[in-house]
Amino acid sequence: MRLYDSMTQEKKDFVPRDGDHVTMYFCGPTVYNYVHIGNARPYVVSMVAKRYFESLGYRVTLVENITDIDDRIINKGNAEGRDYREVAKQFADAYREDTSRLGLGRPDVEPLATEHIQEIIDLIAGLVAEGHAYQAGPDVYFDVDSWGEYGKLSKQQVAEMRHGARIDVGDDKADPLDFALWKGAKPGEPAWDSPWGQGRPGWHIECSAMSLKYLGAGFDIHGGGRDLIFPHHENEIAQSEAAGKPFARFWMHNGMLNLSSEKMSKSVGNIRTLRSILDKHRPEALIAAFLGSHYRSPLEFSEDLLEETEQQVDRLRNVFRGLADRAAGAPAGAALTAADQAVLDKLAARHTAFDEALADDLNTAAALAEVFGVAREVNAALAAGELSAAGAAAVRTELTGVIHVLGLDAVAGTEDEIPAEVVAMAEERRAARAARDFAKSDALRDAIAEAGYEVRDVPDGFKIIRTR
Ligand SMILES: [Zn+2]
Repeated sequence: MRLYDSMTQEKKDFVPRDGDHVTMYFCGPTVYNYVHIGNARPYVVSMVAKRYFESLGYRVTLVENITDIDDRIINKGNAEGRDYREVAKQFADAYREDTSRLGLGRPDVEPLATEHIQEIIDLIAGLVAEGHAYQAGPDVYFDVDSWGEYGKLSKQQVAEMRHGARIDVGDDKADPLDFALWKGAKPGEPAWDSPWGQGRPGWHIECSAMSLKYLGAGFDIHGGGRDLIFPHHENEIAQSEAAGKPFARFWMHNGMLNLSSEKMSKSVGNIRTLRSILDKHRPEALIAAFLGSHYRSPLEFSEDLLEETEQQVDRLRNVFRGLADRAAGAPAGAALTAADQAVLDKLAARHTAFDEALADDLNTAAALAEVFGVAREVNAALAAGELSAAGAAAVRTELTGVIHVLGLDAVAGTEDEIPAEVVAMAEERRAARAARDFAKSDALRDAIAEAGYEVRDVPDGFKIIRTR
């Protein structure tokens, strides 16, 4: 696999540090509000990258932090008369809930900054001891001048950066480029004990401390939005490497989401949260909208785009339904026909192209085009009656594996497609059973079976399973 590295600004062969184990860290959200659709992009990119590496046979550890201490969280708490912890918990829970609705699974570790204060203090203390950081008043700053490689990720010269920088009122730092590692406590703000007095960590240092803790020095991939390159990632590198820890081997930055399209901007304000979009659109449509552009490209995001991808995933879903219908009752071990084999050959060629696309810097746009291409071909074969039951089953199995890598599993499933009338019959059957009217309950069970479903009784109700 070749992966673009923002540090060297070229695609390089990706070989993990630890044999078959891939180590990844992505910057997660600061939880002071519902997660914005723009923050969902790095989440989707990281989860799909994880799936892709897993499909290659790697074991993956993906760490995605949650910043639960920050000015914006404290300010929101103060404005609403609530403890900052309550604000952070509310929106961290909401973030996990909203992103889980995408059906992509979770990162392996989701560390909270406030649970890593000791690791942060240890890292800062090391930097102070080595002369890369200094205390000024109640704060501790990183000394940019002490580390000669500052600017290497964002490709900026220190002299030029210093020209544009300024020192805010109340800051005691020696150089406008120096950045806070530890912020002395202000009245009414949360604070922890430290060798430099009461205070709280700066934002950048938490990502160095947590990535190094969970993944070790020289881990494979550090990701996040392009907007984090400077100063956040530049600072993470400076702190970590000045502390003697080689940092990430690859920097993976996703392009920004552009929401300026007319239709989106005219719509209600809260449409821009992930939550509000998932209330209106299927998760698969949103995933396809993200994956339809290369992760490094800017993405023009709009209601039109979502409507288009919704149609695409619906067509894909229909192909799976057609295959399931055709495959129903396929005799075990039945031989494939020549026509089946022709469709499977086309699918294999598409699969090869799909693999090549993903191996080329995770080109999900090209990979997704192969999926939609194969869907058209399979649809045509189904319409022409070219697939035998065994052939349809084989195609379905193959295609299910392909879409899993892109996190589109839901289009192959049928659990959320149970028709309302079937659910109504199941409800009626439950009522009949409760009333001990077994003749009626049996008749309803038969009618449900007739419709292609099986109702099973489970401890707190029933479960409906599609049987064909
Ligand atoms: Zn970060």
